[in-house]
Amino acid sequence: MSTPQHCPGYENFKNLKSFVCKCPECGESKEIFSDEFNKDHTCAKCGKPIDFTQCTLDGSA
Ligand SMILES: [Zn+2]
Repeated sequence: MSTPQHCPGYENFKNLKSFVCKCPECGESKEIFSDEFNKDHTCAKCGKPIDFTQCTLDGSA
């Protein structure tokens, strides 16, 4: 993972957090960023929608 470049959006970006959510269907991991919480996410592997509210946070993020 690279260090963010300093840019006009940096103040927002530095507060960005991400976590890995596992697909409830197939267990495929997907990294989701905090600014994407209100977007739809689907598993890249099986195409099922991922419901974040049922995801467990991965503390390593
Ligand atoms: Zn899946």
